[in-house]
Amino acid sequence: MRPLVHVTRRLPEVVERQLAAHFDVVLNETDAPLDARALADALAGADALLCTVTDRLDGAVLRGAAPLRARILVNFGVGYNHIDVGAARERGLVVTNTPGVLTDDTADVALALMLMTARRLGEGERCVRAGAWTGWTPTQLLGMSLSGKTLGIVGFGRIGRAMARRAHFGLGMRVRYLSRTVRPDAIEVGATPSPSLEALLAESDVVSIHVPATPETRHLVDADALAHMRPHAILVNTSRGDLVDEAALVAALRAGTIAGAGLDVYEGEPRIHPELSGMENVVLLPHLGSATRETRRAMGERALANLVAFFDGREPPDRVA
Ligand code: NAP
Repeated sequence: MRPLVHVTRRLPEVVERQLAAHFDVVLNETDAPLDARALADALAGADALLCTVTDRLDGAVLRGAAPLRARILVNFGVGYNHIDVGAARERGLVVTNTPGVLTDDTADVALALMLMTARRLGEGERCVRAGAWTGWTPTQLLGMSLSGKTLGIVGFGRIGRAMARRAHFGLGMRVRYLSRTVRPDAIEVGATPSPSLEALLAESDVVSIHVPATPETRHLVDADALAHMRPHAILVNTSRGDLVDEAALVAALRAGTIAGAGLDVYEGEPRIHPELSGMENVVLLPHLGSATRETRRAMGERALANLVAFFDGREPPDRVA
């Protein structure tokens, strides 16, 4: 008998076909996110859960599903802060993710957010679409030049490094980074270390966040951190909403503590802080970091490789717990 894999969201057709060639599958025809009850039922009814960022697999769901048929949580995505890994371990569940395959696309979105915010491109587009553009003027929508400016990267992993390369070699920016680990090869992408978060925030014209969301990094960028930033500086977040205290960010933008923000992720997504939506100096994207046909297929194939290895009795290549 083939293992049964419950897939929580619609995946690219090619990935669903490949999954069905290897396993019995429960697919989500409607693509509606699963609530706690449905997740617990899936854990009790299938051998594996192919889950993603919209599935809140917290302690209550993981401990509440009894008896548990599932033996593995295969996450479609590199970030897995929506999974209580400790509770998963307690229930004997293996957890995997899909690192590496979404690095470049996510760095592209961070770069796009930096450009859009610094150069006021969202405002410009809204102006044209509203029919409010009356023609070129020497003083219309003046932004901040990025060439020669300093980009501060918080979290120098795969995506942080890819962002550094783009900003340094593509835009001619000076790049500083914060990492808990020494990165001797950072210089290859033009990046040098900053001694502390406060120092990095104080010296940067743009700050881009690339650390994972963990209990330790929750609200890493809070009111205190924002107060260290420069009034003309911009904050970019493509990592996870939890890393930024959204209420403090709104207050900092309102007070002019910082000049703008480019966001792909939110604390309560898909809910957006109501004040953010009304701010012209904020660029808001709907969590598009890895959203390309190529990458979503690669993520699916990586998830499949983890499932195949696990049910063949091998160590899954991307095991995180
Ligand atoms: P990664 O390679 O693991 O990089 C994360 C880096 O953060 C690591 O190098 C880690 O290095 C560092 N770090 C962890 N805690 C830190 C702390 N407290 N202070 C400073 N540095 C810290 O992960 P990645 O592939 O670059 O992905 C990063 C995050 O991007 C993911 O966790 C995910 O949430 C997010 N993401 C978002 C999207 C999107 O659609 N918007 C797409 C993909 C990924 P040390 O442990 O050595 O410090």
